[in-house]
Amino acid sequence: MNSKLSPLKLAIMLTIMAALFVGCGDKAAKGPQSLAPQTAAAKGSTETATGKSKVKAAATDAQSITVLVNKEFALPDDYKPKDLVYPDVRFTFNEKIEKRMMRKEAAKALEEMFTAAKKDKIYLAGVSAYRSHSTQTKLFNRYVKKDGEAKAKTYSAVPGHSEHETGLSIDVSGSDGKCAAESCFGDTKEAAWLAKHATEYGFIIRYPEGKQAITGYKYEPWHIRYVGKEIAADIAKRDITLEEYYNAIPVSAQKGTGDSGKKK
Ligand SMILES: [Zn+2]
Repeated sequence: MNSKLSPLKLAIMLTIMAALFVGCGDKAAKGPQSLAPQTAAAKGSTETATGKSKVKAAATDAQSITVLVNKEFALPDDYKPKDLVYPDVRFTFNEKIEKRMMRKEAAKALEEMFTAAKKDKIYLAGVSAYRSHSTQTKLFNRYVKKDGEAKAKTYSAVPGHSEHETGLSIDVSGSDGKCAAESCFGDTKEAAWLAKHATEYGFIIRYPEGKQAITGYKYEPWHIRYVGKEIAADIAKRDITLEEYYNAIPVSAQKGTGDSGKKK
């Protein structure tokens, strides 16, 4: 944990602690009521005195394409993106199911990006995109039942805290599905292409290498998040994370290795 806290960081931290101390934001199994005070929507009002209220509003508005969701910041329990569509790109499966969906703007950007990749002879495929709150809840509860809550939290995101619930994130692999959502994906040419070009389409590699202490996640070269071209370019240029972009507190890194349960 970083011992140097700015007043802003402290304010955010106190808010979170007041809501409930959550280590890695992990407490799902039974927590709708405890989640509520720290939902994205609820946190917006706490930061108006910082002089960065406009930026903070974008970070805490669940509807915003720039919303910040991590192990500290949750989406409201009842949040469901209003504009989910099926992006017209290849996936590693054929079914028209929930995890194929993304919010409209992100879906369009994804289509453009996959098309551009193809021109470079890089054939990408979606692995998993949107995940509803209820799906995440079922998933997490199943893991809790199987391994106990403490262990479940090391490999699965607590409901409300998975960025996949925003409809703005997607796990991507090569079209052969090799190393899908696994660390070996980092060594593929598809990962190299994404790292180089994703920001041109408004996506960031959400959990970069060496930033686990800030994002709370190990390096996930396959997990990209749509934030829009402007912010993506800024984040890439400054080599920072979305947390740093918002000057939010680092997410404690000791727990949790990922959000899909497939990490290594
Ligand atoms: Zn992911």
